[in-house]
Amino acid sequence: MNKHVKILIIGGGPAGLAAAVSAHKAGVEDILIVERDVRLGGILNQCIHNGFGLHTFKEELTGPEYADRFIKQVEELKIPYRLATIVTDLKLSDDGKTKIVTTMDEEGGLNIYDADAVVLAMGCRERARGALNIPGERPAGIYTAGTAQYFVNLEGRMPGREVVILGSGDIGLIMARRMTLEGAHVKLVAELQPYSGGLKRNIVQCLDDYGIPLMLSHTVVKIHGKKRLTGVTIAEVDDRLSPIPGSEQFYECDTLLLSCGLLPENELSGQLGVDLSPVTSGAVVNESLETSIPGVFSCGNVLHVHDLVDYVSEEASAAGAHAAEYIKSASGGKAGSDGDETKVKVVTDGGVRYSVPSILRPDHMADLTTIRFRVGSVFKDVDVVTYADGKELARLHKRVMAPGEMEQLILRKADLIADGIPAEYRITIESK
Ligand SMILES: Cc1cc2nc3c(=O)[nH]c(=O)nc-3n(C[C@H](O)[C@H](O)[C@H](O)COP(=O)(O)OP(=O)(O)OC[C@H]3O[C@@H](n4cnc5c(N)ncnc54)[C@H](O)[C@@H]3O)c2cc1C
Repeated sequence: MNKHVKILIIGGGPAGLAAAVSAHKAGVEDILIVERDVRLGGILNQCIHNGFGLHTFKEELTGPEYADRFIKQVEELKIPYRLATIVTDLKLSDDGKTKIVTTMDEEGGLNIYDADAVVLAMGCRERARGALNIPGERPAGIYTAGTAQYFVNLEGRMPGREVVILGSGDIGLIMARRMTLEGAHVKLVAELQPYSGGLKRNIVQCLDDYGIPLMLSHTVVKIHGKKRLTGVTIAEVDDRLSPIPGSEQFYECDTLLLSCGLLPENELSGQLGVDLSPVTSGAVVNESLETSIPGVFSCGNVLHVHDLVDYVSEEASAAGAHAAEYIKSASGGKAGSDGDETKVKVVTDGGVRYSVPSILRPDHMADLTTIRFRVGSVFKDVDVVTYADGKELARLHKRVMAPGEMEQLILRKADLIADGIPAEYRITIESK
């Protein structure tokens, strides 16, 4: 017999925890969080540096401390969760009304749940060497930055001593500092793009403060060593990101850390038939953070890669509240698509890569809707301009915008529909 649950949350990281707390506070108590790890908190458990929670709690916390604030709320509200249990299968029931979720626990125990609503909060994984196609043998000493972070922070083991980092994502920057503090020599961070993929504050606090050079427009073109890494060849790249012949330089090292992007873990979402964005690899969602399948919501890094966990929690709280609304409305309430309501397409161009949400349903919108987006390259002294069917709604001046920083704007429903419901809402970047 399948077990019934009103809201099943896949993933007990910051997104899953915040979604659970807010769904419970919105009046739904029959919730289950399923987490494959042996503890709640997600990737924050290995992020022992500070800098978390400035927006949410107005204080500087470490990753585990930040996660603990939400874990405590889950415990206080007595929200059930299952650890060391992985969701292996997700599909719709034959009548399409419930979502059938299959889980497997440590002992190999299989459980099948009929969930009225599902919140996807599976986070993301790092792009590993296999996805980067760097020529060379497969020696020991090559790790993703997150794996190295796990070894150093949770297992107390050093991956190596002479380190090169490829990619300037935030995890790579944080690990440059962490490895240095643990006595390693971090020679450089090489970044393929002409700009960093990480936050400005991390470049200053993790590289500049420790004299670690950031080599923009450079990449690793060869890996040396058979059993253990002995060095890497780094070359400069041209405008088309192709290595420039003659620019190669050899760097001796025993460790290469890869910080080359995060991939949302959407295999289950794809299995269920959720529409995925080719830009973010996350679900396409509407203003209620509901995917193309009614009653299936998405939030956190599985939806799109966030830079600050505070925004993950904020977004996930909204997803949890909408999931609760979906349950309470049973059918045709505020959240929960009925398929034929008017939809406004959010179009992004002029350097804006994507937006979340990308569909707005005025009938379901609150007075204010947060729209998050990222740009595709560095912009200086530009305006972010929004239009409803060509009519300018707002113009916000930005001194600097960079791909590593997530942007957000608040859309007033009254502005969007002032002249009737538009077919499209456009977000673009214009120079003066
Ligand atoms: C390696 C790494 C290091 C990071 N370091 C930092 C940092 O130092 N500073 C910072 O601000 N941000 C960091 N981030 C970003 C950070 O991921 C986010 O801010 C935040 O943790 C995202 O929350 P989340 O809940 O969406 O994802 P996660 O924290 O990744 O949580 C997702 C959870 O879902 C679980 N899960 C996935 N699939 C299943 C399944 N099928 N069944 C059951 N459970 C499942 C996972 O085990 C995990 O616990 C890091 C990200 C990564 C990947």
